[in-house]
Amino acid sequence: MLDVLRRIVQEVNGARSLEAALATMVRRIRKAMHTDVCSIYLFDAAQDRLVLMDTIGLNTQAVGHVSMRLGEGLVGLVGQREEPLNLEDAPAHPYFRYFEETGEERFSSFLGVPVIHQRRALGVLVVQQQEKRRYDEGDEAFLVTMAAQLAGVLAHALATGTLTRPTRADGMATFKGIAASPGMVIGKAVVIAPPADLDNVPDLVPTDIELEIRRLSEAIERVREEIRRAGERLASRISSQELALFDVYEQMLADAALGQEVEKRIREGQWAPGALADVVRRHVQYLERVDDDYLRERAADIRDLGRRVLAHLQQETDKGFDGFPERCVVIGDELSVAMLGEVPRERLAGLVSLKGSSTSHVAILARAMGIPTVLGMVDLPLTRLNGAPVILDGHRGRLLVRPDDELARHYQKLIDEELALAEVLEHEQHLPSETPDGFSVPLMVNTGLAVDAVAVLKPRIAGVGLYRTEVPFMITERFPGEHEQTKLYREQLEGFAPLPVVMRTLDIGGDKDLPYFPIHEANPFLGWRGIRVTLDHPEVLMVQLRAMLRASAGLNNLRIMLPMVTNVDEVDAALRLLDRALTELNEEGVRVERPLVGVMIEVPATLYQLEALSQRLDFFSVGSNDLTQYLLAVDRNNPRVASLYDACHPAVLSALTGLAKESHRLGVPTSVCGELAGDPCGALLLTGMGFDALSMNAPSLPRVRAAIRRVPMSSARALVEETLRFTTPTAVRAHLQARFAEWQLTHLLPPRDDA
Ligand code: PEP
Ligand code: MG
Repeated sequence: MLDVLRRIVQEVNGARSLEAALATMVRRIRKAMHTDVCSIYLFDAAQDRLVLMDTIGLNTQAVGHVSMRLGEGLVGLVGQREEPLNLEDAPAHPYFRYFEETGEERFSSFLGVPVIHQRRALGVLVVQQQEKRRYDEGDEAFLVTMAAQLAGVLAHALATGTLTRPTRADGMATFKGIAASPGMVIGKAVVIAPPADLDNVPDLVPTDIELEIRRLSEAIERVREEIRRAGERLASRISSQELALFDVYEQMLADAALGQEVEKRIREGQWAPGALADVVRRHVQYLERVDDDYLRERAADIRDLGRRVLAHLQQETDKGFDGFPERCVVIGDELSVAMLGEVPRERLAGLVSLKGSSTSHVAILARAMGIPTVLGMVDLPLTRLNGAPVILDGHRGRLLVRPDDELARHYQKLIDEELALAEVLEHEQHLPSETPDGFSVPLMVNTGLAVDAVAVLKPRIAGVGLYRTEVPFMITERFPGEHEQTKLYREQLEGFAPLPVVMRTLDIGGDKDLPYFPIHEANPFLGWRGIRVTLDHPEVLMVQLRAMLRASAGLNNLRIMLPMVTNVDEVDAALRLLDRALTELNEEGVRVERPLVGVMIEVPATLYQLEALSQRLDFFSVGSNDLTQYLLAVDRNNPRVASLYDACHPAVLSALTGLAKESHRLGVPTSVCGELAGDPCGALLLTGMGFDALSMNAPSLPRVRAAIRRVPMSSARALVEETLRFTTPTAVRAHLQARFAEWQLTHLLPPRDDA
């Protein structure tokens, strides 16, 4: 059964249109369940009805015509209750309603299950049988499993369908994801496809059909040559049976049919990579469907060949790539920090990806660079978007594809208003960050990017609260050496001197991978991360510590911070290495002061060991991103659970309040450098709790400063008190929103979803 299930999902997944997906679905399920009828009804929000979208067994004329409200008839009942309904004698059920067009009076047995994706009912899947049949538990379990598996595929197909069969004449479509970096932009979509990935080749209408055909035959020729040479090289080392495989490959490529099919597709109006992907996919689907092991193996061969040809085509494309358009919104399956570096900054207007969430590191970097970003757009049909005009709304987490003029005008107005607000706020950026009742709240910045505008920032801040050293490590091709690092750190320390700069030791793992030091783990956020990695590689940590210390010579504004600390032992081990580095440098004649050393409070265990930590360290800095993730057990990078991730969860706020009190009692200066500090609501709460400094991405400074300058400390403290009485994150957020409205500070908050 598992095999059947997997195969159906695979086929439906490979379908190029919603219609094809639905047709495959009903046919294959009917066959697998040996039943007379299989139908799929989808919920149409515009009509507020479930519509029969495809059937095998009922009258096909009924497709698109028969529909029902939720709660109407048996199908409507399944849709309303969102649970399976299994009946041997359906007409006897009080909800039974006869839809004449379907011809379903002949069927007595009925099994319907809801199709639900991320809590949203998409439709109802139904099987029926003429004679009385009690679908057994196995049948029911099969259909429920099928529906659960198909839900994601279907959601994706529906999204694609929105683009291919526009319900609005203008073809506009809206997609929702997770707001990851604020701001709005009107621009053009540029899809970055992973190399040689047949499933993610964007559609593109070719400008020169003959050129595309030439490119194709050249790429095919190159792959033939590669295979022939590989075969020759291996001839003496592999069996004749294995060698025969190379012949099969060569024949497949020599076979004019494949090339001709792709050529035909190009002439229909698709560029070479897209045409190749279409044809290969069609063949693979066909072969995988056949009940023959030999042919199924051939499907894998065709896929492999297709990938090789595609790789050549893409190399060519890259060479001929005439650059990114103005205001480009880069869209990819998964965006990496390195990818951000590839697009010229002045053209990069927005970012969208299918994976990732608002505190994933790509999001943090995007915020630091001030690029509107939406992540976790799981259902986005990547291949249909290249070159499309889009509006990206980083506040509400939306991507509007092919917007009409009215919408574009509306957004242009919002963008203008935002610019105007930024200008107004700019006027007070040189003023102290002080509450109206005279409490100073030092604001610091999080850095790590080469683009940080030191000269502008310096007079406005109290220092660098977090320098993420991993960023320079990510954009090199190996661990940077001591001299390279010293140079980088010196720039940072010198640039901000005499202000303090808190440098964090390498914090890789989780979602931060180094291309030359990959870490593959089932649970990366609970695994080898931060100090755990660097203590296991003292040679890497020592080079970094030496570089930091060397860079600080004569400046004395360096502070060192250890990430992901769980045990006091880890601190002791790191301090021993630091002392060794100091001694070594001294022996080498480099005179440096011992810097202040602190830890990040981000693993909940540290909340309970503050006293022991305080005896060894000079300061604490709260990594609220990770502290939230670990307190709530919600992967900060996983869009599926993103709605559960909230630093304003009452448990997190209560932990933070306790932490601020306890660190005061212990006399340890404590700041916050997670994203909560850069959110005006969060910043006021943290101020009221009594944290000593707030460190944030530079683009967050103006709004946070404005909030602090307008709300007295007494009100911030009261806000904490009031907020701690709420029991849910929603209630907390609503209260914060209400208070900001009262203080007439709503304009400092991101626009709300309903705006
Ligand atoms: C944090 O966890 O809050 C933090 C500042 O570190 P990072 O986001 O780099 O993990
Ligand atoms: Mg962290």
